[in-house]
Amino acid sequence: MRDTTKHQGLRNQLANVLHKKGIVDEKVLSAVRKIPRHLFIDSSFEDHAYKDKAFPIAADQTISHPYTVAFQTQTLEIKEGEKVLEIGTGSGYQTAVLLELKAEVYTIERQHELFKKTSLFLPKIGYKAKRFVFGDGYKGLPENAPFDKIIVTAGAPFIPKPLLGQLKVGGKLLIPVGDGTQIMTLLVRTSPKEFEKHELGDFRFVPMLEKKN
Ligand code: SAH
Repeated sequence: MRDTTKHQGLRNQLANVLHKKGIVDEKVLSAVRKIPRHLFIDSSFEDHAYKDKAFPIAADQTISHPYTVAFQTQTLEIKEGEKVLEIGTGSGYQTAVLLELKAEVYTIERQHELFKKTSLFLPKIGYKAKRFVFGDGYKGLPENAPFDKIIVTAGAPFIPKPLLGQLKVGGKLLIPVGDGTQIMTLLVRTSPKEFEKHELGDFRFVPMLEKKN
C-alpha cells in the first residue's frame, strides 16, 4: 500500500473530527495528520482507515479508535524526551503517535504474532521505539524503570501494582480499568507513597490478559 494525497486529505478530515470531539492538543492532532494509519491495518479495511473506528488486527486484537488514542495521548501530556512505557503494542499506531511526540518509547506486547509483525513494521516506516518487548504488561518493565508516563491500551481488571512502582514521582499512569466497559483511570504519583486518582469516563478495550507461555 502507498501513501497518497487522498490519504493525506482523509487524515486532515480525521484530525478535524477529533478536534470537534475535544482533542485540542495541536501536537496530537499533527501526529494524526502525519501517520499513515491505513498502513497499520489489513488492506481490506483501507477505506475505513481514517474513520474514527476500531478494527481487527491480528490475533483477535483491535487497533484502538483514533479518538481513544488521541484522548489517552493528550491526557498524558507527553513531552519531548520523556520515557514512556506502553502496554499493548498491538498495531503500533499508538506507539507511532508517542514517537511523533518525541518520547522515548518502550512497548510491550503479549501476543507473539503482533509483537513480531509490529516490531518489524514500525522501523520500516521510520518509527523507532527504544525497545519492543514480548512479555507481560502486568509486570511492567522493571529493568528500564522508572518512567515518566505509562499508558495501558487494554482493559485491565485491576491496577497492576508493579506499574505504580515503576512511575517517577510526578509521573502518570493512564489505564482503562474494569471488565466489559472500562473507566479510564489516571493515577499521578505525587510522592513516593501517594497517588492521586482521576476517573475520566467510560471506554471499551480488549481485555488485558496474562502472558501465555
Ligand atoms: N494500542 C494498540 C491497542 C491494541 S489492543 C493499537 O491501537 O493497535 C490491546 C493490545 O494489548 C493487544 O495487542 C493485546 O494483545 C495487548 N495485551 C493484552 N494483554 C496484554 C498484557 N498483559 N501485556 C502486554 N500486552 C497485552
